Amino acid sequence: ADTLPSSSAAAAPTTGIAPSLDAFWMPFTPNRKFKQSPRLIVGGEGLHYDLADGRRVLDAIAGLWCVNAGHRNPRISAAMKAQIDVLDYASNFQIGHPAAFELAQRLARFAPEGMNHVFFTNSGSESVDTALKIALAYHRARGDAGRYRLIGRERAYHGVGFGGISVGGIGRQRSTFGPLLNGVDHLPHTHDLVRNAFSRGEPEHGIDKADALEALLALHDASTVAAVIVEPVAGSTGVLPPPRGYLKRLREICDRHGVLLIFDEVITGFGRLGANFAADLFGVTPDIITAAKGLTNGAVPMGAVLMRDAIHDAFMQGSVGAIELSHGYTYSGHPLACAAAMATLDAYTEDGLIAQAAALSPFFEDAIHGLRGLPGVIDIRNTGLLGGIELQAWADGPGTHAQAVAQQCVELGVLVRSVGDTIALSPPLTIGREHIEQIVDALRTAIAQTARPTDKEA
Ligand code: PMP
Repeated sequence: ADTLPSSSAAAAPTTGIAPSLDAFWMPFTPNRKFKQSPRLIVGGEGLHYDLADGRRVLDAIAGLWCVNAGHRNPRISAAMKAQIDVLDYASNFQIGHPAAFELAQRLARFAPEGMNHVFFTNSGSESVDTALKIALAYHRARGDAGRYRLIGRERAYHGVGFGGISVGGIGRQRSTFGPLLNGVDHLPHTHDLVRNAFSRGEPEHGIDKADALEALLALHDASTVAAVIVEPVAGSTGVLPPPRGYLKRLREICDRHGVLLIFDEVITGFGRLGANFAADLFGVTPDIITAAKGLTNGAVPMGAVLMRDAIHDAFMQGSVGAIELSHGYTYSGHPLACAAAMATLDAYTEDGLIAQAAALSPFFEDAIHGLRGLPGVIDIRNTGLLGGIELQAWADGPGTHAQAVAQQCVELGVLVRSVGDTIALSPPLTIGREHIEQIVDALRTAIAQTARPTDKEA
């Protein structure tokens, strides 16, 4: 199958030429395998995607953890249509447009107390690299240029920029690209099947993993460390909620040593956990938050870096005529993205989607933990409307079990995502109980249908 299926809307191009699958080098995809049996999405509405073969599937991963307000949310579509007829593009380099200022002000109100400044990017990866650069430059701006080290964590995903893969903790995403950034070290990850399997919400054990930060600071000399970056709940590496007290302890250690704490909230922000940000849910305010995905409901690329006032203010000390930070993107604060983001914020707040997600979280937790005891299910984890079901690895390779289950789920009408040997769930916040039941039923069937004799009951 090296051309698109004829039932695909995309197969009716204006040129009249049926497009080949060959030219597009797909990201994070086994291209040759995909192109043997392509699966294409041709439409979406609310909780559902329409596939090229005419089937409709429930989107239990919200696109790629981003479509929190549902596909083609009418508020967001209308705002984007209105914006494109007024102003298509305007730079924010030494000139500006009102929507970027308005959105920044609204985000400051939406963010934790005391984080009133926003830098716009176009993606999560750009937000991470921007946050790391701001952290480094902040120390320099205060005359503390000796703080150059960055600390990430094993099993962290912080996007694909050179900064992000350097602080990231996924071996194969690092080893392919050479030596990466200097002066980076990593905390241990917090995944612990021995002590914490089948925890609900924050696992009980593992606050001690935060103490590893003290050890790293001692090892490197704390006065050389600029920042620590963590995902409050690690997403792409398997949905790993933080052990109880862990984030607070990181905060205390950072405070004690003058090290900045960055939360990468690209997945956890904008209602995913039933709160505006993970920082709100866990009651720990970092110095910098990175965001993207749910910021515009995935309707158009946009990211943002939110920071404590003191970080921003440190840059506002020199000559008034000087550029405070030599950094930015052509599309930082793009008008169309700003319009989409403001309408998305309306959906989250005025339409009550975040409150709805919070109210539904206990039901979601009970429902997915109902899969405990099925063959090969070795752990179930959750926070808010984020869930992970970890499967016993099969002998034929890491990830193959979860891929088989995910593949079978699509046959059963539910789109989930496999990350390693974990099935990740991250449905739109607009989901209802009956849809959660549909997801869990599909998973139960798919797990049974793909089970091998070696799969054990935990
Ligand atoms: N950080 C985290 C925590 C993410 O989950 C992701 C994307 N999954 C990124 C950064 C990178 O975002 P993007 O793909 O928009 O560059």
